[in-house]
Amino acid sequence: MATKTTYEEVGLKAGLEIHQQLDTHTKLFCNCPTRLRDKKDSSISFKRYLRATKSEMGEVDAAALEEVKYRQTFLYKGYDSTCLVEYDEEPPSELNPEAIDTSLEVALLLKMNPLDAVHTMRKIVIDGSNTCGFQRTALVATDGVLQTDEGPVRVDSLCLEEDAAQKLEPEGNAVVYSLDRLGIPLVEICTAPDIRSAEQATKVAGQLGMILRSTGKVKRGLGTIRQDINVSIAKGARVELKGVQNLRLVGEIVNNELNRQLKLIELKEVLNTRGAWVEHRIEDLSCFFASTASKVIKNAGGHVFGICLHGFAGILGTEIQPERRFGSELADFARMYGAGLMHTDELPAYGISELEVEHLRRVFDAAEEDCVVIVAAVREPADKALNAVMARAEEAMQGIPKETRRALPNGSSAYMRPLPGAARMYPETDVPPVEIAAQKLEYIEAHLPETFEHRKARYKDKFQLNDELADKISRNVNFMLFERVMDSYGDVSATLVVRTLTDMLVELMQDGVEVEPLANQHFMDLFEQLAANAFGKEAIPAILKLLANKPDMSVEQAITEIGLNVDTAEVTRLIVGIVDTKRDFIRDKGVRAVGPLMGIVMKELRGKVDGKVLNKILEEQVAAVLAEG
Ligand SMILES: [Zn+2]
Repeated sequence: MATKTTYEEVGLKAGLEIHQQLDTHTKLFCNCPTRLRDKKDSSISFKRYLRATKSEMGEVDAAALEEVKYRQTFLYKGYDSTCLVEYDEEPPSELNPEAIDTSLEVALLLKMNPLDAVHTMRKIVIDGSNTCGFQRTALVATDGVLQTDEGPVRVDSLCLEEDAAQKLEPEGNAVVYSLDRLGIPLVEICTAPDIRSAEQATKVAGQLGMILRSTGKVKRGLGTIRQDINVSIAKGARVELKGVQNLRLVGEIVNNELNRQLKLIELKEVLNTRGAWVEHRIEDLSCFFASTASKVIKNAGGHVFGICLHGFAGILGTEIQPERRFGSELADFARMYGAGLMHTDELPAYGISELEVEHLRRVFDAAEEDCVVIVAAVREPADKALNAVMARAEEAMQGIPKETRRALPNGSSAYMRPLPGAARMYPETDVPPVEIAAQKLEYIEAHLPETFEHRKARYKDKFQLNDELADKISRNVNFMLFERVMDSYGDVSATLVVRTLTDMLVELMQDGVEVEPLANQHFMDLFEQLAANAFGKEAIPAILKLLANKPDMSVEQAITEIGLNVDTAEVTRLIVGIVDTKRDFIRDKGVRAVGPLMGIVMKELRGKVDGKVLNKILEEQVAAVLAEG
């Protein structure tokens, strides 16, 4: 993880764009339910062909055009819970008032300025994810701010949008979309690029998520919140990372992108020093692979085409992100044309022999410093793939391309498309604007959920938490659980509950424990047992670890399995034994002997029995010795 000075040195700037589905009863522009369906239940399907002519679309930006290059036929799947609005056979109805109210509530929580009227606009999308060829979006509020420890982060805009159709596996040549998701209301919140570290990015994402959830009117679960992160460094370029579904990955993705850009700058310097160049000569190499053992090549019918990147040896094999090399970046481009890419930094391998590699090198007169890149595909896609690869290799000598990348589950990212220009918006004439009445805003303002500040003050007062812990838990996603535990088991230390629900979970994650399976009930049962002195608080991490691995196990079973069951008679016997050997010490020190003896007792029983319980038994036994005289 980069340090603060590194972030400053490289000039990191990051901004977040969060898309959160709202849990409204109906969709944004029709009365269909906002429920995802089992795709097997689709009862209607139809095809559409994209007609992207320039006159119809106005100026189409590079990103949009790139999508059209590859795909044209779209197959849509509808349900008994979708209607003619989703099929683009009927105009949209008015903006859903429930969705407007929730978006205003979020806007006010972010101290934003709501607009006097909400106008629905059309934003062109030609990837087929909307049947009508555009996404409807409405600006609701602007100019908010989020306070973080590292300074304020401006919140530029909050929009209400319709979610896109969900992409399924392709069928033949058709791109397939499911229409159950299309039209579910989303709020889109965009921050300014005011974020200066990976840690701050994680915090901002967490706070925004908290604010959204505090309304109680957003959907929960996988896929209901999506974050895009834009990252730039002073010497690099602005890159947009799309589709981060896991909040915990936000910081890691920022760091990985920062490192990728730094690495690419290093590679650029190496290439320039070497005087590297890209030879624009695509060769048909199929003849050398007539009897190859390579499955990839055999599957492509034995067709192999290649190019030579002069001075690129070792560059393609250099890791620039976790599990991704510069060669993977080039492979992203080849893959868009359905071609698998291999290069001499990694060959011989994958069934390709040393002799075959020698042939490749000879065709291009390749020196040791050079790298030969091949794709297995027939002529036309191979040409397109290799042209894209050559273009990307040439960019590597210039710097870092501005682009949109897809976030990968391991925190790395892959090329998706060029960075889109500012989206062109057109008024949606089918949907009338909605005036926001002052009384409505007053009402929403008066009924806002509790703010962090208020909650923090309340916790300090009610549970005697110190400032740090009150702050921590009032901002934490588990704050409601904290209150439930304290209301149910008031004897348990509030400090311990906060530590368990915050730092301890983080530590477990750092130890590689997947804490996701831990449910609220696990924690309720844990503190119930703790309140009943069934085990010592030192054992909490071990119990949580076990429960995270075996979520079906009860807390009681976990205690038994770890061997924490307290047999009071047994414990007393053990303490009596210790006291017995220290009689002289006790007579000498009096009650002050309890402290040192407690150390010996804890050595034996730490984590198995609560310290308080041990202390009580020990005090009794010491008193008994002293009473004997
Ligand atoms: Zn509908």
